[in-house]
Amino acid sequence: MSKKPIYMDHHATTPVDSRVLEKMLPYFSEVFGNAASTDHAYGNEALKAVEKARKQIATGIGAKPEEIIFTSGATESNNLALKGIAEQYREEGNHIITCVTEHPAVLDPCEKLEAQDFEVTYLPVDKFGLIDLDELKNSIRSETILISIMAANNEIGVLAPLKEIGEIAKEYEIFFHTDATQAIGYVPIDVNEMSIDLLSMSSHKVYGPKGVGALYVRKVNPRVRLAEQMNGGGHERGMRSGTLNVAGIVGFGEAVNLAVKIMPEEVERLRKLRDQLFEGLKKEIDGIEINGHPEKRLPHNLNIYIPGIEARSLLVQINDEIALSTGSACSTSKVEPSHVIEALGFDDGRAYKSLRFGLGRNASGHSVEKVSSIIVEYLKKLSALSL
Ligand code: PMP
Repeated sequence: MSKKPIYMDHHATTPVDSRVLEKMLPYFSEVFGNAASTDHAYGNEALKAVEKARKQIATGIGAKPEEIIFTSGATESNNLALKGIAEQYREEGNHIITCVTEHPAVLDPCEKLEAQDFEVTYLPVDKFGLIDLDELKNSIRSETILISIMAANNEIGVLAPLKEIGEIAKEYEIFFHTDATQAIGYVPIDVNEMSIDLLSMSSHKVYGPKGVGALYVRKVNPRVRLAEQMNGGGHERGMRSGTLNVAGIVGFGEAVNLAVKIMPEEVERLRKLRDQLFEGLKKEIDGIEINGHPEKRLPHNLNIYIPGIEARSLLVQINDEIALSTGSACSTSKVEPSHVIEALGFDDGRAYKSLRFGLGRNASGHSVEKVSSIIVEYLKKLSALSL
């Protein structure tokens, strides 16, 4: 890349923050020990670093360090939560409740469980992307063992009422899992206040390195047990075997620590810039609308419907200048309409005419203005051609 396009796809991934990278560097070759080989100083130092990160991550969500299980990312965390609970509590019930707009890393494990005689209720959403809490209550059965609802949607940024869902789960004594991959660093999370029993996280969405994540697993009130999905040396309290990615974990810990520390100001800054971006586009483009909820959304997310354009061809035209997406990164190789936009109840066309912006730490008034003017100019050119 000679001149790099402006990156506005922070729901797909984020760069490693330089402050995070700096903390990681010694753990590649200087402090290279295996955190499970504690018969000597090398291993002990690595373990000390892992435990510091575990504490940083636990603190970020109001948990205890021993409740954090390191994984390779949120895909693995979701798989471990869903399959781990299903296998462990099979005798108590075979019913799971989730939602149609979840990430494939929740929907696909659910599908696998259905093939093993589990029953899954996929709650629908309203036009804003929110589930109906009465419908959630009504779908609970005596066989329900798990409710899995994401904290923030990766496409439209809609925020779930975690505390209310947690209360329902607690009332009916059902485990509550939330995929909080997109919410960490943008929404204050407290697993006790919100009665969350399992929570998935990913480092690369919070300016940490790729290939590392965590699953929070509640230890008391109630104690959650999981059938391990990776067998081996018994690492991570037996729930996830495999030598720990020490440098990655150190980076993840620092990334969460930093994201939570700067959250109040950063959220306000991003919200203002995101609103400025939308206003800039709305002023010039007829009929554009927000996909998702106007307020209950991530501060850095903007997902818009632009009538009359094919989002994918627009992206091809502008991708020398702006890095944007039409939907979730994991499904962009398929030319299928977004299952999230489709679930909002609009016609098929809307999913093909929607764009997702994910603002990040690099965003400024200048970059936002530039992005909106590039898109507006392209659309003007297009409408002049079709006259
Ligand atoms: N859940 C959500 C909501 C996500 O946005 C993503 C990443 N697109 C994942 C899970 C998967 O995370 P990872 O890349 O860490 O496996």
